[in-house]
Amino acid sequence: MACDFIALASPGVQKLSPYQPGKPIEELERELGISDIIKLASNENPLGCSPRVFTAIDSGLSELALYPDGNGFILKQALSDFYHRPIAEITLGNGSNDILELIGRAFLQPGDEAIYAQHSFAVYPLVVQAVGATGITVPARDWGHDLPAMAKAITEKTRVIFIANPNNPTGTWVEKDELETFLNSVPGNVLVVLDEAYGEYVDANDFPDGLEYLSRYPNVIVSRTFSKAYGLAGLRVGYAFAHPDITNVLNRVRQPFNVNALALRAAVAALQDQDFVARSRALNTAGMRQITEGVQALGLSVIPSRGNFLCVHLKRAGLPVYEALLRQGVIVRPVTNYGMPEYLRITIGTPDENNRFLSALKAVL
Ligand SMILES: *Cc1c(COP(=O)(O)O)cnc(C)c1O
Repeated sequence: MACDFIALASPGVQKLSPYQPGKPIEELERELGISDIIKLASNENPLGCSPRVFTAIDSGLSELALYPDGNGFILKQALSDFYHRPIAEITLGNGSNDILELIGRAFLQPGDEAIYAQHSFAVYPLVVQAVGATGITVPARDWGHDLPAMAKAITEKTRVIFIANPNNPTGTWVEKDELETFLNSVPGNVLVVLDEAYGEYVDANDFPDGLEYLSRYPNVIVSRTFSKAYGLAGLRVGYAFAHPDITNVLNRVRQPFNVNALALRAAVAALQDQDFVARSRALNTAGMRQITEGVQALGLSVIPSRGNFLCVHLKRAGLPVYEALLRQGVIVRPVTNYGMPEYLRITIGTPDENNRFLSALKAVL
């Protein structure tokens, strides 16, 4: 008889339920035998990525036998130039998911607490539980972060606070004033992770740029990614800016070659094509309006969002609608596991994809 291997896992890991990704197009094709499927489920960029990325990857193909630069110098240099921050503040990650993992592994242990908001990114509880620390979920206010309540939840045991801005899956955001008030109330030995995975999509004066707080609040870690607006989700590149000592600690637990050689080159090329990012942002802004208006015309409402996605309130159970949309060849994201059973999260697509989603939704309802 096999031993109870689950019981051998560390207590935090035993209780983990793995992250549920959006359904891949190929899987739905196999299941239903249909083609012409669109996926608006994982906040991927409908424009793909900058064409400069292909050239950069081509030029790296001859070096696949070599280990990548473990320090990721070319990318750190490019990020440092672009953001005017020192290289000593940069940690590279295999996606920003990796950055979140590194923070958990470096700074959390059993007995410690980490705070995050209700309806916030599912990776935070995973990272916290995996290392045996205790996650504290603070109830949301209007689907977003209730920063005063999060400040009140800080105890002697609190080590890390995660804030997704904008938040996934709700699309809600925190503004400059409230964030500054919050940062002023957090003790200097509590790390505040500003997860700005969707920051490039935001075009608003009241929106805080995490990098502006690094000098004033040395306990802030800003996490960003090439997966969303830069369209490189498949390559896995993310990065963090933080105080050099925090960066030093994160780099101690980092795998030596966590960002692969092609990804390093691709990310440099992507960063240099800000026109592509601007086009992505403009397409997103227009698509956000298109879907909002389309959904409202069906008598439904949305949660206002600054991400590249939108939560639609169906006023009925979301899972059956999700299933029915699948049969129409439209993959969106159910958010029942986020405590939002009457909502679906829709990634903003191209105008055609948005129309297809709206027609499918109309047909299904
Ligand atoms: C998508 C996402 C990430 C990171 O994705 P990576 O592909 O690992 O960079 C991080 N935080 C939030 C809130 C996200 O939605």
